[in-house]
Amino acid sequence: MGAQVTQPFKVGMVSLGCAKNRIDSEVMLGILRQQGFDLTADPLEADVIIVNSCTFIESATSESIDAVLEMAQYKERGRCKALILAGCMGSRYKEQLLAELPEVDAIIGTGDVGNVAAIAQRVLSGERFATTAEPLFLYDEQMPRLLTTSPHSAYVKIAEGCNHRCAFCVIPSIRGSYRSRPLNSIVAETRRLVRNGAKEIILIAQDTTWYGRDIYGESRLADLLRRVAAVEGLHWLRLLYAYPTHLSDDVLQVVAEQPNICKYVELPLQHVSDTVLRAMYRQGDGAYINRLIDRIRQIIPDVTLRTSFIVGYPGETEADFAALCDFVTEKRFDHVGVFTYSAEEGTPAAQMPHQIPQAVKEERRQRLLAIQQRISRAKNEGCVGQVTDVLVDRVTDSVCIGRTRRQAPEIDGITYVKGRRLQVGDMVRARILSASDYDLTAVVE
Ligand code: SF4
Repeated sequence: MGAQVTQPFKVGMVSLGCAKNRIDSEVMLGILRQQGFDLTADPLEADVIIVNSCTFIESATSESIDAVLEMAQYKERGRCKALILAGCMGSRYKEQLLAELPEVDAIIGTGDVGNVAAIAQRVLSGERFATTAEPLFLYDEQMPRLLTTSPHSAYVKIAEGCNHRCAFCVIPSIRGSYRSRPLNSIVAETRRLVRNGAKEIILIAQDTTWYGRDIYGESRLADLLRRVAAVEGLHWLRLLYAYPTHLSDDVLQVVAEQPNICKYVELPLQHVSDTVLRAMYRQGDGAYINRLIDRIRQIIPDVTLRTSFIVGYPGETEADFAALCDFVTEKRFDHVGVFTYSAEEGTPAAQMPHQIPQAVKEERRQRLLAIQQRISRAKNEGCVGQVTDVLVDRVTDSVCIGRTRRQAPEIDGITYVKGRRLQVGDMVRARILSASDYDLTAVVE
């Protein structure tokens, strides 16, 4: 991790993209502070600014470039001497970006998280370079991680990388092959986070259901869930990013049995048409997916199901899309994300014939969202009158905002909580008074 800095330079961080990338930002901040850097939320004060970028789809790449250009202004207006582009965009485009972004002093990748302090020192000493180490980095409980979210709810990354090769996805080329963290490391980190106030722990990876196959030779997710759920003081354990063909009955059984595991399954399905799933290089066909949804509901009757779909994939016919609409109408998911297909350079799908015009993609997205909007409202109305636990995330002068077990942070709706003055991190019993398309309103009991 390099020698301590002699002068307390200040570092600012812009963290973009998914929660997995945010954890990398938090580990980088922890390492920098440990190595003697000061941290600041004000870019005007920062000597070093790091943009931890995302490049999953085109719009994310543009957002990352906009953030770099915005931060570059602080070289004039502020104290910024070193602008570093880190994360997925660094790993994807490497030194090519040095030429394209003259404002940037260093390009680093997802493999360089552990070396960030030494990299910052090199840039402060006037070097300009691109170094994108192999994407082999995997944090553990020993690493200093500085939470950037309120401590009552924290993500824990159980693995890095992905062994699938979905035809539209650049992540395996950026994040490398699948690397599970040892079970004990994840349990130890959970213990520390709960000691620091976490009531909710959210387990994430590119595919959480692949957990353990690389280091234990078999899936150990059910084991991991039992061990983490047993951590004293943990109220809610939530599992995200399950891959359809790897979500096993024993995992579902553990979710059903353990009282503090949210009866919540997030399962990005991407599509349901056999032709489209094959063209996506996805495992599992439409019939398998239909049976899987029924099996999940059989094993966890009160399950909250979240999924996401890509519409406008190359070759998607009106009939394929109609099949998807029928599937969503019939299966009635609680939460659905719908993305328009984005042709990503370097992916097989970008070379496929029958690319769909953007207007058609967008029109299909709106049609599918409209179907889900009605279902989401009906599901929410079904909660009215229930008394349930609400975890308070935000308190302002005018409103308290929280979530029930049915609502994951940042991706699902929220619950407005009325009643006595509440604090962030409070877990309260509340009665659901009313529902809207995506949100709920409740009063403390
Ligand atoms: S499962 Fe597919 S979509 Fe998800 S990260 Fe892996 S390759 Fe990408």
